[in-house]
Amino acid sequence: MKVLVPVKRVVDYNVKVRVRADGTGVETAGVKMSMNPFDEIAVEEAIRLREKGAVSEIVAVSLGVAACSETIRTALAMGADRGILVETDVELQPLAVAKLLRALAEREQPRLIILGKQAIDDDMNATGQMLAALLGWPQGTFASRLTIEGDTAIVTREVDGGLETVALTLPAIVTTDLRLNEPRYASLPNIMKARKKPIETVKPAELGIDPAPRLKVVKVSEPPKRKAGAKVGSVAELVAKLRTEAKVI
Ligand code: AMP
Repeated sequence: MKVLVPVKRVVDYNVKVRVRADGTGVETAGVKMSMNPFDEIAVEEAIRLREKGAVSEIVAVSLGVAACSETIRTALAMGADRGILVETDVELQPLAVAKLLRALAEREQPRLIILGKQAIDDDMNATGQMLAALLGWPQGTFASRLTIEGDTAIVTREVDGGLETVALTLPAIVTTDLRLNEPRYASLPNIMKARKKPIETVKPAELGIDPAPRLKVVKVSEPPKRKAGAKVGSVAELVAKLRTEAKVI
C-alpha cells in the first residue's frame, strides 16, 4: 500500500512570530523554518504502518518555494522513501494545495493520504477536508489512533468531550492530532542515506492546476500587548484592590 504524506514548510514552532511592518503577513525573512509539527506526526505514523507491514511505500510531498525540498529531505531522513516537490513562488492557500494534491493522488494512486490536522502558520485546518471532498474519499480527521485492517482504516478521533472511532473504506484521508504518536528524530546515518533518495520536481501547470490565491488577506495584526501587573504588599491590600479597583468581589 502506498501512502502520500504532505509536509509543509512553516516558521519553526520555537520562533516568536512577528508581523511584517506593513501588516501584510508574518515575517519569514531570516527566520528558522521547519516541518509543520503535525506533519512530522503524519510521517511518523506512515513509518510505523510500514514497520507493521501495512504500508510498502511512503511518498513525502511539499508544495511551495524551492526551499521546501529541505522539508522533504527531513521526511526522507525520518524514513520516507521518495519525495515530490510541487514548486511555485505563488502563495498557496488550502484550496490550491488540495487541488494540487488531488492531481498528484490521481497520478500516484495512494491508498492513504495522511496530512497534519493544521499548519501552525495559518491555522487553516482545511486542506485535508477539502482534499477528501475533491477526491470523494472518506476522511478521519484529528486522529489519535490509526490501524489498518484489510481494506479499512480504523481511526479514533479526538472530538469535544471524548473519542469517536470511525471505520473508513480505503482509499481514505486521515489528519493527525497531537496524541497520535511521538515523531522520531532522524539519525545521522539516515540523514546521509536521505541525500541519495529521489525528489521529483513538478510545476502546478504540469498538473493542470492554477494555484492563484482565491482569498485576499486584508490585514494581519499583533495581539494587544498585555498591561503590566502590580505587586501588592499583603493579602489585605490584594482583597481591597480586588474589591475597589477590579470590582470582582
Ligand atoms: P492547513 O489546512 O493549511 O491548516 O494544513 C493542513 C495540512 O495540509 C498540513 O498539516 C499539511 O499536511 C497539508 N499542507 C497544507 N499546505 C501544504 C503545503 N504547502 N505543502 C505540503 N502540505 C501542505
